[in-house]
Amino acid sequence: MIVASIAVLMRARQVDQLYDYEAPESVSVQIGQCVIVPFGARYVLGYVVKLTQVDHSAAAGETQARVLRMLDREPLYDAPVLAAELIELAAFLRNRYMCTWGAAIQTMLPPVTRASQKVRYRTPEQCGAFPLPEELLRYLKRYGGASKKVLLDRFQVTAQQLAKWLEDGSLTAVSEAVQKYSRARSAVSADDDLAAAPLEPSMVLSTEQKAAYDSVCSALDQRAARTFVLRGVTGSGKTEVYLQAIEYALGRDLQAIMLVPEIALTTQMTARFKRRFGTRVAVLHSHLTEREKHTEWHRIARGQADVVIGARSAIFAPLPRLGLILIDEEHESTYKQEREPRYVVREVAQWRSERAGAAVVLGSATPSLDAMYRAERGRYQLLTLNARIRQRPLPEVSVVDMRQELRTGGHSLFSGVLREGLENTLARREQAILFLNRRGFSTVLLCRECGEVATCPHCDVSLTLHKTRGGSLLRCHFCGHSEGVRTQCGSCASVRVRQFGAGTQRVEHELLELFPDLRVVRMDVDTTTAKGAHERLLAEFERGDADVLLGTQMIAKGLDFARVSLVGVVAADTSLHVPDFRAAERTFQLLVQVAGRAGRHETPGRMIVQTFAPDHYAILAAARQDYGRFYETELAARKMMEYPPFTEITQFLIAHRDEQQALRHATALQGELAHQLQSVPGVRVLSAVPAAVPRAKGLYRYQVMALYRSFAAVRAAVQDVYRRALSKAPTDLSITVDVNAHSVG
Ligand code: ADP
Ligand code: ZN
Ligand code: ZN
Repeated sequence: MIVASIAVLMRARQVDQLYDYEAPESVSVQIGQCVIVPFGARYVLGYVVKLTQVDHSAAAGETQARVLRMLDREPLYDAPVLAAELIELAAFLRNRYMCTWGAAIQTMLPPVTRASQKVRYRTPEQCGAFPLPEELLRYLKRYGGASKKVLLDRFQVTAQQLAKWLEDGSLTAVSEAVQKYSRARSAVSADDDLAAAPLEPSMVLSTEQKAAYDSVCSALDQRAARTFVLRGVTGSGKTEVYLQAIEYALGRDLQAIMLVPEIALTTQMTARFKRRFGTRVAVLHSHLTEREKHTEWHRIARGQADVVIGARSAIFAPLPRLGLILIDEEHESTYKQEREPRYVVREVAQWRSERAGAAVVLGSATPSLDAMYRAERGRYQLLTLNARIRQRPLPEVSVVDMRQELRTGGHSLFSGVLREGLENTLARREQAILFLNRRGFSTVLLCRECGEVATCPHCDVSLTLHKTRGGSLLRCHFCGHSEGVRTQCGSCASVRVRQFGAGTQRVEHELLELFPDLRVVRMDVDTTTAKGAHERLLAEFERGDADVLLGTQMIAKGLDFARVSLVGVVAADTSLHVPDFRAAERTFQLLVQVAGRAGRHETPGRMIVQTFAPDHYAILAAARQDYGRFYETELAARKMMEYPPFTEITQFLIAHRDEQQALRHATALQGELAHQLQSVPGVRVLSAVPAAVPRAKGLYRYQVMALYRSFAAVRAAVQDVYRRALSKAPTDLSITVDVNAHSVG
């Protein structure tokens, strides 16, 4: 007999295991198929992960005892079938990120639609005489029931006969809830006109581009699972290298995945790709409708598309002949999923690369320290584009010391330099982008005299201001250190110590006070929630219906406007002071990226950076666009603190309605973890501390972190501690784990 091991599509931890079902001869199953299985009192969806042929005579007793369930339905033929590769990938996700089978598999699939009610006909439990035909009776007993379709089609039962059996009690109708996949309509391509349009020819590559391209092509020739870091400033022609490498892959009958950090950027990229590759392009991201997602997914799975463009989750695209994976703006934090499964795209890409013999290209103007460090160590291969196409100069950058502004009596958010810059830009009828680096939510304590921010004496992170019943408290989100609010600066003894944090709304308000006639487009989470708002606001600015585009980091990336000649950063410090060891790296990357928004075309660009920390290495290096300098300084700091890339961090989050309970469980978990890891060299387990958001949705949140060098050395222990904590936890306690946590604090 054949035993099918099934992963059920439920996210509950309690059912996170494979369940064995006997597959009767009449039901044909294969790995990766979707099946409906009887599960307790109901039916649920599952995927076939493993098939085992079991010798009936040899192990009959044993197997029968183990396999209590029987597959009683045919697989769902209209549900997506997962290729064996993706089933293995699900196992990898589960192992690496400690997620459930259900979460791993669902992440790879187009969405499951709502549970639907289906009527099935059964024989009642207690019923003396059955007037039913022998054959039908056997079927009902074996499969526990039959659908109307089976009765009418297979057993040729007439509607009157059925009604009679229901009446005399030979059959009962039971309605069952079954989750169902929405059925994808045949791929109606909205790009019919595109198919007819001639494809855009590729460009003649520059010497630098050619060298990068050749390296990638040679990996494609060898089907080598090699990873490249393609470092090049914005406008240096990285995308053109991607396009031509894809073209080369397609020529060798290989397929490609192109990832962009944000959904907003897929539109621009997709248009460019479709001009080059026409209808062979498919798009996958979470803003598509359910219908669109299914259509695209099935087009890919059926081999009707060879190039998939999308945000994070497109890394799971079911391409059967994957040869090339491109990750644009590789350093972006959106490549880490912050809900289960908490995967890191680069790691998934590498897994697929090794499985398929595919090349991976990590492109960025400011590669992450993680990627660059690996390139330096020879694990990745570094490719560099130094020159901007057509030699357009990078913008001239001025750093404005806001401490000085304050000393000379300025209380405005805008320095004299920035005001003047705006005036000139407006006078020349050009446009400006104002950027507010407002990542995070936390408030820090800043000295208005010297720019110093209250930091933890034990860690390299800023202290976060907490409002408590008794007043305010400064707390380190990394080690738990806490102290009273300082009234004096620890560095210069000034008493002008203030809370710090300004929002886009306040900036807009002040801007309009300075320039009453100014036309401002504001883009932040508040103005872009409506569907299509993002595109509408950008189009408005692009048409020239506004003078200033004001926004958070969502305006920093990829956008390309011809008439923008000034970029102003209102407060470069904000992202520096989030309690996260990656704060300096993120600040540097953001500033370099913002600088890239100015002077993209004929208009020469200028950038003005306002900051209370003009001497901070991240800001200095960004102003000079000096990646090498930043990299060296930051790497040395990380090494000293033993942070990634020298270690990896796994973080547990424990949440409960009651603060004491949350703390107690967090402390217990911390103790257990420390105990189990004590014999592993180079492991640090930090004590339980409040999370960066200490209370959310009425729950108190505590975190426990472990830093280590090798996941392999700690995996079993971490997993064991997690499992045990879960099994002991009361139902109202939530425990999550984030392996290779990317933002800490
Ligand atoms: P990046 O992705 O690094 O920002 P792009 O590939 O978008 O750079 O290139 C920037 C601009 O230069 C685009 O308008 C592109 O069409 C153009 N470009 C790129 N490579 C070449 C080339 N070899 N010859 C001429 N123009 C090019
Ligand atoms: Zn600390
Ligand atoms: Zn000071």
